[in-house]
Amino acid sequence: VDRVVVGSAHLDSWDGPQSMGTTDNGTGSSVVLEAARLLTQAGARPKRTIRFILWTGEEQGLWGSRKYVESLSEEDLAKISAVFVDDGGTNAEGGLPAADHMVDYLAAATAPLNGVFYSETDGKHLNVNIRPTGEKIKTHGGSDHAPFNKVGVPGFFWDEVGRADYGEGWHTQNDRLDLAIEEYLVQSSACMAITAYNLACAPALLPREPAEHPEPALAQSASMSEQPTNGR
Ligand SMILES: [Zn+2]
Repeated sequence: VDRVVVGSAHLDSWDGPQSMGTTDNGTGSSVVLEAARLLTQAGARPKRTIRFILWTGEEQGLWGSRKYVESLSEEDLAKISAVFVDDGGTNAEGGLPAADHMVDYLAAATAPLNGVFYSETDGKHLNVNIRPTGEKIKTHGGSDHAPFNKVGVPGFFWDEVGRADYGEGWHTQNDRLDLAIEEYLVQSSACMAITAYNLACAPALLPREPAEHPEPALAQSASMSEQPTNGR
């Protein structure tokens, strides 16, 4: 119960003239709130804690998430399985970059979403694609997942997939309510909720990235190769 999965987004936005901060990051914030509501409404009783967080001061330099990480002890940090951040606009949560040894866990956690949400406009299902990126999570440092990755806690920034062009609204006067695309936000909310729930009920925490020194990494890859694979 004291182990934690985090679903999050930043609540603050770029404070420029006429911007409503809709896609950066009203959409991500609403996805977090709706994910929490969905799980509460469903009466979900996960094995571990799911913590929903709305960060502040992201635009000034990830202030909220950095201070949060600083406030936690080594012991606290070791109890966080994974941190998810929705901060890529209004598109659907279409995938995650993941270190190779995390892919099976995340694919299992997100599998129930595939084939469920269909976009009539796009003519396709809004599926989740877990992308193996090698020994480490290959991601960027531009949002609230980054301070967690820095201290070895798996932090994920959702790939956003869909017809919206993030650059159209980002930090401009165009970032207004009409940019929000409801069907993608519905999928994203379910995705955030189900991924967090399944990881919170998984047999173990998400495996961490291999340590810098070679011995544990070798031990890990040896034990993983003994398991049946799906030919990945
Ligand atoms: Zn943002």
